[in-house]
Amino acid sequence: MDLRYSPAEQVFRAEVRQWLAEHVPAAPLPDFDSSVEGFEAHRAWERTLHAGGWGMVTWPVDYGGRGLDLIRWLIFEEEYYRAGAPLRVNQNGIFLLGPTLIEYGTPEQKARFLPAMAAGDEIWAQAWSEPSAGSDLAGVRSTLVRDGDEYVLSGHKIWSSRAVHADWAFGLFRTPGSERHKGLSLVFFPLDAAGVTVKPIARLDGKPVFAELFLDEVRVPAFNRLGAEGQGWSVCMSTAGFERGLMLRSPARFQMAAARLVELHRGRADSVEPEVRARVLQAWMDADAYALSIYSTASRLMAGGAIGPETSTNKIFWSELDLDLHRTALALLGAEAELTGAAPDASADIGDWLDGYVFSLAGPIYAGANEIQRNIIAERMLGLPR
Ligand SMILES: Cc1cc2nc3c(=O)[nH]c(=O)nc-3n(C[C@H](O)[C@H](O)[C@H](O)COP(=O)(O)OP(=O)(O)OC[C@H]3O[C@@H](n4cnc5c(N)ncnc54)[C@H](O)[C@@H]3O)c2cc1C
Repeated sequence: MDLRYSPAEQVFRAEVRQWLAEHVPAAPLPDFDSSVEGFEAHRAWERTLHAGGWGMVTWPVDYGGRGLDLIRWLIFEEEYYRAGAPLRVNQNGIFLLGPTLIEYGTPEQKARFLPAMAAGDEIWAQAWSEPSAGSDLAGVRSTLVRDGDEYVLSGHKIWSSRAVHADWAFGLFRTPGSERHKGLSLVFFPLDAAGVTVKPIARLDGKPVFAELFLDEVRVPAFNRLGAEGQGWSVCMSTAGFERGLMLRSPARFQMAAARLVELHRGRADSVEPEVRARVLQAWMDADAYALSIYSTASRLMAGGAIGPETSTNKIFWSELDLDLHRTALALLGAEAELTGAAPDASADIGDWLDGYVFSLAGPIYAGANEIQRNIIAERMLGLPR
């Protein structure tokens, strides 16, 4: 891996930077979880990105992308976070399902789903977890039954992020009578289909960030199954690989937070305890270390390699890094850390640290709980006894 950017990559970075400078909204968009208006404002931003050709730079041109490599995706992400551009409301689609569709989808499925996803016309939710199958995903009980050219879906999903306003969901369903990893299939269903009930779940702050999905004999075309019937586990593990190992959390997110942390420290340097100063330094180094490791993974994938054990190690690393960054910021802020952005004496930046901290608490849980990732590392990578 050559650690220098090529001249062509530098030209690309300048192009991204200029486009973002001209198009990123001057004022932050309203939160996409709190209201239809916020969600639709983010959808409009996805459309603006797509119109500029920046919906998902790595996808083939025919499906709404630019056909670029993963290094350019990382450069795009760095510029995106540096510009303070809006969070991607369609991240479940573009970062998780999209790459899986490119790997497993038929040409007809790719043509049907990818362009609409890239354009923000169809926003996706992930419907994997069930009340008794979160960490133990092989325990899902929702069923699919083939009926001619259709599947009939039934069951109960939970913790589906953004499903309150999204258009489609991808879920894991089991052929009745099958057990554990066998007999599972990955199927897409529209969230407004007959038989689907979407019940919002409020987070601690009251925002309807999640939903429960009740499926009562929902009919979808067999065309909506991704991969072979009964092969859903391996298709899902491919999605999980992207989620944990590469795409869900690009390094830019943490490098930007580390830069803000250093800035926060600079403004208070005279009064900071040496122990807190050391934590700032460590978090900043960890964010850079994470970036180097992702660049290394991207280089390996571009040379024909496959995602490996980093699906588990990265997941643990980025989620704990996010916690460290935010806990250190709160230590720097001292008593001010308790202020939300809405408090009269708080700058928006102070409230952002508190909000970010609350969200970082969920990092060790979503995308595969860290305890489970540690089990995988112990048993499958290190060969330790169960
Ligand atoms: C912010 C957020 C967003 C989410 N978004 C989505 C989404 O969009 N779509 C979706 O389908 N799901 C989503 N989830 C759900 C998430 O994937 C599950 O919450 C997660 O997999 C844990 O499952 P669970 O909640 O059933 O907990 P449980 O499986 O009951 O686990 C509870 C605790 O026990 C531990 N544990 C369980 N089994 C073992 C074991 N064998 N060894 C050691 N420890 C164990 C777990 O690690 C965890 O700490 C989201 C969750 C959060 C917090």
